Amino acid sequence: MADVTLTGIRKRFKGGADVIPDMHLAIDDGSFTVLVGPSGCGKSTLLRIIAGLETASEGSVSIDGRDVTQEEPAERNVAMVFQSYALYPHMSVARNIDFGMRLAKVPADERKAKVDEAARLLNLEEYLDRKPAALSGGQRQRVAIGRAIVRNPGVFLFDEPLSNLDASLRNRMRVELAELHQRLGATMVYVTHDQVEAMTLADRIVVMNGGCIEQAGTPMELYTRPATRFVAGFIGSPR
Ligand code: ADP
Ligand code: MG
Repeated sequence: MADVTLTGIRKRFKGGADVIPDMHLAIDDGSFTVLVGPSGCGKSTLLRIIAGLETASEGSVSIDGRDVTQEEPAERNVAMVFQSYALYPHMSVARNIDFGMRLAKVPADERKAKVDEAARLLNLEEYLDRKPAALSGGQRQRVAIGRAIVRNPGVFLFDEPLSNLDASLRNRMRVELAELHQRLGATMVYVTHDQVEAMTLADRIVVMNGGCIEQAGTPMELYTRPATRFVAGFIGSPR
């Protein structure tokens, strides 16, 4: 079980205004939730608060029904995948995927099995000895996803993972992500500004604006019944 509940989350950076004034959001176990909204509306900040990379000024985060507000990222049942991949350039693909497990002192045979399994799942078997510089953008992003997978998180957090890829690769990776969600059954929270990604991947879309939820619902609900012109504009519905 890995539902995520945000209660009264407020975030203000030092010296600034409230980026997120008062967020309440319940994300179902096993769901694929897509966050959309204009640049600067607080999507990345929200993901980082769920991951524990950023502390909320007020409010609480619970995962699996457990309050994790005070917990370190490594203690939470989450893994985050960034737009920039954030791979170690001097390490091979295998070492990159292995890295977190080494830190966590997972036994070598178990690590090897998990790296192999992730590589199989992500079609990286032939590339395990390469350095990231010798990979395509799509392969790099698969490595970043592999690094998340081996942690067996209940919750995956994706921050615009495909936005550095060209259109055809993005289409392919989108299909792969949908399959991955099916196979792992994990909860996924996914930030994108790509309408097609949002409409095809999401069970539920959360449209954000200025740190607040403008509307949340299934892709079909938002498309057919956008609550505001803003939502209609974002979802691309005729209104
Ligand atoms: P999004 O991901 O939706 O584009 P962000 O969550 O990155 O938005 O940013 C939301 C707002 O918070 C922006 O106004 C941004 O400038 C501000 N912000 C983000 N991180 C910091 C930080 N570390 N310090 C100060 N302000 C920040
Ligand atoms: Mg962002």
